[in-house]
Amino acid sequence: MSTHDFRIPATLESRFEVSDGLAVFRFSLERDFHFVPGQYATFWLTHGGKTLARPYSIASSPSEKRSLEFYINFVREGKLTPSLWDPEVITGLTRGDPGTHAAVTGPKGRFVVDPEDMRDLVFVASGTGLAPFISMIRKFNEDYLASPKAFHARKIYLIHGVSYPSHLGYREELERLAVETVRDLKRKLALVYIPTISRPYIDFSWKGLKGRAETLMEAPGAHEGTIINPENMVRIILGVMIRPETHAVYVCGHPGTVDGVVETLSRRGFHVDRDIKREKYYP
Ligand SMILES: Cc1cc2nc3c(=O)[nH]c(=O)nc-3n(C[C@H](O)[C@H](O)[C@H](O)COP(=O)(O)OP(=O)(O)OC[C@H]3O[C@@H](n4cnc5c(N)ncnc54)[C@H](O)[C@@H]3O)c2cc1C
Repeated sequence: MSTHDFRIPATLESRFEVSDGLAVFRFSLERDFHFVPGQYATFWLTHGGKTLARPYSIASSPSEKRSLEFYINFVREGKLTPSLWDPEVITGLTRGDPGTHAAVTGPKGRFVVDPEDMRDLVFVASGTGLAPFISMIRKFNEDYLASPKAFHARKIYLIHGVSYPSHLGYREELERLAVETVRDLKRKLALVYIPTISRPYIDFSWKGLKGRAETLMEAPGAHEGTIINPENMVRIILGVMIRPETHAVYVCGHPGTVDGVVETLSRRGFHVDRDIKREKYYP
């Protein structure tokens, strides 16, 4: 059997532009696709006589077996992503054009929550590194809503770092869950959503946290200026609360974010693999 035989044909069902060069793609599949939240699929794109394949973390819940959602950013010098912003390709993938088609294989990857590990969770994402956490949060929430009594109480702290406020994909969905958490303090699945913007000087309307995601894990002393600012308050709270005995940390996306979190938390007694799981999108 060739790899081709394992490929599941995928038709573009919807494409939602979050911001310039940032979109959520939903593909419907010809066959069921089984995966664990946090895993990725290999996405195959054929267009203009060429086929390219790239890994993409799955953002949808595994309960949707015939549909996969990906959260993808446009890479200007990239080989595959510019096609996903090409109207001809988008039309071809939607209509099922013989010269322009997509497929998926997989799943792959070990960036998944250990079902035996009952610690609270700290998710750190940069950019589209949010995708696997969306799948995990959606599945946890479905499980909680299906049987609230049986659900093992869990707090999730989600730190999402992006350049601009408009790049905060899935913001409404996450804010909704975070608000439900504070409205019902007995809710067994609690989400603390912590978005942060690294280029706040472009959009002055942003009143939230500033700086890269990984810097929120550092000690406040590492940063100049007064200790009394919102970023340092969050650093202090996270520093006091998050311990390897009680929290497992997952970090995904930009290599600088992954390395930064690993470096800071290693100094605080966290061990890679046991306490920190990571997924880098590129070297
Ligand atoms: C396990 C895994 C899961 C991934 N999941 C996602 C995902 O959910 N969403 C997503 O957008 N990407 C994801 N990626 C990255 C994705 O596979 C591609 O590398 C990316 O879409 C660029 O593809 P390309 O063909 O356009 O660029 P390429 O021709 O492959 O690369 C061009 C250059 O861009 C750099 N680059 C690669 N990815 C990025 C990026 N995201 N931002 C900036 N520069 C980049 C590369 O280092 C390279 O130098 C994932 C990668 C891995 C390894």
